[in-house]
Amino acid sequence: MKICVVGTGYVGLVAGTCLAEMGNDVICVDNNAEKVKELIQGKVPIYEPGLEELIMANTRERRLVFTTDLDNAVKNSLICFIAVGTPEREDGSCDLTYVLKVAESIAKSMNEYKVIVNKSTVPVGTGEVVKNCVKEYTAYDFDVVSNPEFLKQGAAVDDFLKPDRVIIGSDTQRATEVMQEVYSPFLRTGNPIIVMDVKSAEMSKYAANSFLATKISFINELANICEKAGANIEHVRTGMSTDSRIGNQFLFPGLGYGGSCFPKDVKALVRVAEDNDVSCDILKAADKTNFMQRRIFIDKIFDYYGGDVAGKTFALWGLAFKPRTNDMREAPAITIVELLVAKGASIKAYDPKAIDEAKRILKDPIEYTSSSYEALEDADALILVTEWNEFRRPDFEKIKNTLKKAVIFDGRNQYDPERMYQKGIDYICVGKKTKSALVEA
Ligand code: NAD
Repeated sequence: MKICVVGTGYVGLVAGTCLAEMGNDVICVDNNAEKVKELIQGKVPIYEPGLEELIMANTRERRLVFTTDLDNAVKNSLICFIAVGTPEREDGSCDLTYVLKVAESIAKSMNEYKVIVNKSTVPVGTGEVVKNCVKEYTAYDFDVVSNPEFLKQGAAVDDFLKPDRVIIGSDTQRATEVMQEVYSPFLRTGNPIIVMDVKSAEMSKYAANSFLATKISFINELANICEKAGANIEHVRTGMSTDSRIGNQFLFPGLGYGGSCFPKDVKALVRVAEDNDVSCDILKAADKTNFMQRRIFIDKIFDYYGGDVAGKTFALWGLAFKPRTNDMREAPAITIVELLVAKGASIKAYDPKAIDEAKRILKDPIEYTSSSYEALEDADALILVTEWNEFRRPDFEKIKNTLKKAVIFDGRNQYDPERMYQKGIDYICVGKKTKSALVEA
């Protein structure tokens, strides 16, 4: 099939590449000329496991091309995916500027019937807005479909190639059949293509993201109660998540959710509720708890030093908002760096993939190191921010011997408090009281 994907970010690049992998002819369009130039040269601007290999293979076969020429891409495609950003406005609502700009450009380039597929995450009713926008600029026949994307950064290629389900919001049989043909090769394991109306499809994406975000805020709130009341959140989590009605996913206490989706999507759904005069206390609480969670953790660092971190140096392990991505959008590391530096502390940071992104995003002057252990040199404590695999079983003797004082603030509950105590490391984590090895020593 002839497909164009407009927007080559985390979603568009993965979607375009995986669609090409299934034998389709895919034109990926972006208005960022520098990004397109790099992609043409074989430089992949994001880190996503397995993506680079697939891009290389499919560009070699000429099934996948990159361009800034949207007009030509639209004219040569039956299906036009919109996969541009839908950022948060100041009031929390979803900014549709980029989506509508692309819709207008597609409309102006149309030369025959097109299926215009909105893959960006958008508020319920956007399909209608896109339809009206396109109608203004073309007399050709077209359908607007909603096809929300559920890939997880860090496992995006796998998620796209083997989705749990594909949701198609379509109001016409013609467009539904085209979409079923596009996706059937991805669903040979029997996972479903779920067809519904456009509005319900749009809402499904916000519903899924808000539910997952709420699970994270729920376990974090529980962790805070456990810590004060003397229970251990890890035992409680295991106790509750082995109940098959609850399940064990997205129930890990830590620094709260980040990234480009959950924070903005929860806020946008709050706005949708308010615009419809519906109360949404659970969503608001999920957002507020998430905001507080980072601060509660940072307060533990301040408290440890009696409120004064001036002159201290902290080693940060992990900068990306989660492991296996270089994405820094809304990453807890940003807040941690900002608040510590504002109080006079210095930071030495290491991340396996996100250092270039961090240099672009973090405003404070911090030192970046080329290995995790190098970050510990002359540091007063280690702060574990992102649970990359390589941080899960580190050499604790080396940590202890390299830091000025053996202190670990663990925002991801990766280590065993009792083991840390035995090793003589002061260990502060989330949702459980820990004994101070150093004060007692
Ligand atoms: P992104 O910011 O990584 O990429 C957007 C791309 O669109 C950029 O490369 C930008 O240059 C390009 N662009 C903007 N305007 C353009 C235009 N007029 N013409 C051509 N290109 C244009 O965004 P993303 O993370 O890929 O997210 C895209 C959408 O998908 C958002 O709505 C997001 O909420 C949703 N989504 C994201 C994820 C995720 O994990 N990142 C998952 C599911 C859904």
